[in-house]
Amino acid sequence: VWIVGAGPGSPDLLTRRAAACLRKADLVLYDALVDKSVLKVARRAQRFFVGKRAGRHALTQPEIHALMIRAARRGKRVVRLKGGDPFVFGRGGEEVQALQAAGIPFEVVPGVTSAFAAPALAGIPVTHRGLSSAVLVVSGHDEALFERLVGEVRPENVTLVVLMGRSRRDALARILVERGWPGTTSAAIVADASRSDQHVWRGTLEDLSRGDGALDTDGPVTLVIGETASLALSAEDIGSMPARALSGDRRG
Ligand code: SAH
Repeated sequence: VWIVGAGPGSPDLLTRRAAACLRKADLVLYDALVDKSVLKVARRAQRFFVGKRAGRHALTQPEIHALMIRAARRGKRVVRLKGGDPFVFGRGGEEVQALQAAGIPFEVVPGVTSAFAAPALAGIPVTHRGLSSAVLVVSGHDEALFERLVGEVRPENVTLVVLMGRSRRDALARILVERGWPGTTSAAIVADASRSDQHVWRGTLEDLSRGDGALDTDGPVTLVIGETASLALSAEDIGSMPARALSGDRRG
């Protein structure tokens, strides 16, 4: 079994090892955030969706473990494909533990995590001399946990990257303001990073806390908070550039 990171979406950001595993695979078990264009790389494999859609799990975590183990024991080459990096909020660790317990040979193939790729594609360096010397990647899924984790962090010289914070972004911003982060701190929302419909909202923590960070997408979003979020070190319209332009079409 290969536990493979698929990157943030665009197949261009798949590693060569990930692509090689996908081409060899007999069975691909994939999550909701894996882009269809990435799945196409697995030409000969049977592909099976095991993720979460609209809050409902297609399969439970133990069912996924059992499925991987059963297929491997039948001699199938299995790719367990996850968005981004498999060990960044992907439960890849638990799956490896299950494989270890079952004595199934496995390999972990790291992926380009959206925690760093989404800011980078919006022209935001997560560290920058003089502005940020640390990055904190945190889940926004649970407000109480978020508050506990960021509560002691001072806003100076740190970039906060929040994954899974889409629906609670106003509340998360309010927590930071209550904890003494200046309302003027820069904030950005990077939506659908690396996909053809990537777009970026920019504002301040104050704007975000008032619900100004409106989104016209159902896709995944990464929040970036800190002074680095004010930087836009990318070609001006890279966010709206079609995917084909990013993959080598240099016209225009
Ligand atoms: N293992 C993944 C993260 C899984 S958690 C990784 O390393 O990227 C899922 C969260 O990742 C989403 O809620 C969102 O915050 C972020 N995410 C995934 N793909 C993204 C994308 N294309 N653009 C922006 N954020 C993304």
